[in-house]
Amino acid sequence: MPAFYLRRHLARCLLFQFCEPETTERRRRWISQERDRVMHIAVCMKQVPDSGQIRVHPVTNTIMRQGVPTIINPYDLFALEEALRLRDKFGGEVTVLTMGPPMAEDSLRKTLTFGADRAVLLTDRFFAGSDTLATSFALAAALEKIAREFGEMPVIFTGKQTIDGDTAQVGPGIAKRLNLNQLTYVSRINELDTAAGTITVERRAEGGVQLLSTKMPVLITMLEGTNEIRRGSLADAYRAVSAKIVTWSAVDAGITDITKCGLRGSPTIVKKVFAPQAHAEKATMLPVEDGYDAAAALMNEIFKRQPALEADLMRFASGQ
Ligand SMILES: Cc1cc2nc3c(=O)[nH]c(=O)nc-3n(C[C@H](O)[C@H](O)[C@H](O)COP(=O)(O)OP(=O)(O)OC[C@H]3O[C@@H](n4cnc5c(N)ncnc54)[C@H](O)[C@@H]3O)c2cc1C
Repeated sequence: MPAFYLRRHLARCLLFQFCEPETTERRRRWISQERDRVMHIAVCMKQVPDSGQIRVHPVTNTIMRQGVPTIINPYDLFALEEALRLRDKFGGEVTVLTMGPPMAEDSLRKTLTFGADRAVLLTDRFFAGSDTLATSFALAAALEKIAREFGEMPVIFTGKQTIDGDTAQVGPGIAKRLNLNQLTYVSRINELDTAAGTITVERRAEGGVQLLSTKMPVLITMLEGTNEIRRGSLADAYRAVSAKIVTWSAVDAGITDITKCGLRGSPTIVKKVFAPQAHAEKATMLPVEDGYDAAAALMNEIFKRQPALEADLMRFASGQ
């Protein structure tokens, strides 16, 4: 370290050591209070085709995406509004993250006009063809990098589901990968206690509303709720026009194993797309204890009805 910088550094240390104890104590308290007060919240947002304008090809029966305008996934707007409300209450920042093609920048810029502080675009040819497993892998890696670069997030929001893929798997997938508590199908945040590190929400469930509380950090999947996305201020609109969108490739996001991304990292196979026939069969409840049991029981039921599917999957898995 050059002598000049060393002297300046020592002077600062001495000043901090010998200044009035009360001032030092006040400063410490201020720092810790500030840390408690300030929230960094992340919102995962997906740009989706406007489903109201999608048409199906009359011959091939495939979805015709060309010329279909894109929008922000509606559930993600409820998530963003909830994040902005928490930021307004506690101070801090909201970072919006999307994984998608470069044109997803348009939707990110829109979130800045609503008042988001920062937008991150995760884009790379390695992500093409990602199913929900690969998507949650890439997003989890990017969220870890966001935490390292811009501060830890006590709350991460996703929408409940998208209006194109519709699986509702990505949020829980991220929570599992980042080892976060998760609150799904949330319609309202009731209370966030920064001192206790807890959050209480309303969750819409079959037959009623559940009041749930958990410790942060937490991942919340947001339903269409009691909020409505704000208009955003003129200042935000100006800022959004020229704001820098943080753009990361897979490597930038810290992903070293690209075999977990895109088509290669996606075990999902679409065998056939069809409109299901309505039939009279009743739903059955599977007697299961936890998520793993539920998944196994469900696969058993599916394979019982479609034995050929199990053989197909085994063949695919073994690479034949
Ligand atoms: C059977 C099947 C096969 C598929 N095959 C392909 C394929 O070959 N090629 C292809 O491109 N896609 C494919 N997809 C679509 C792809 O899986 C989804 O785009 C992606 O995994 C997200 O899943 P989802 O849309 O169901 O999200 P959901 O799980 O419904 O989304 C929940 C929430 O997660 C967040 N989220 C989801 N996706 C993103 C994102 N990209 N960026 C930021 N946040 C996000 C949002 O907050 C969203 O509200 C396939 C989907 C299925 C179901």
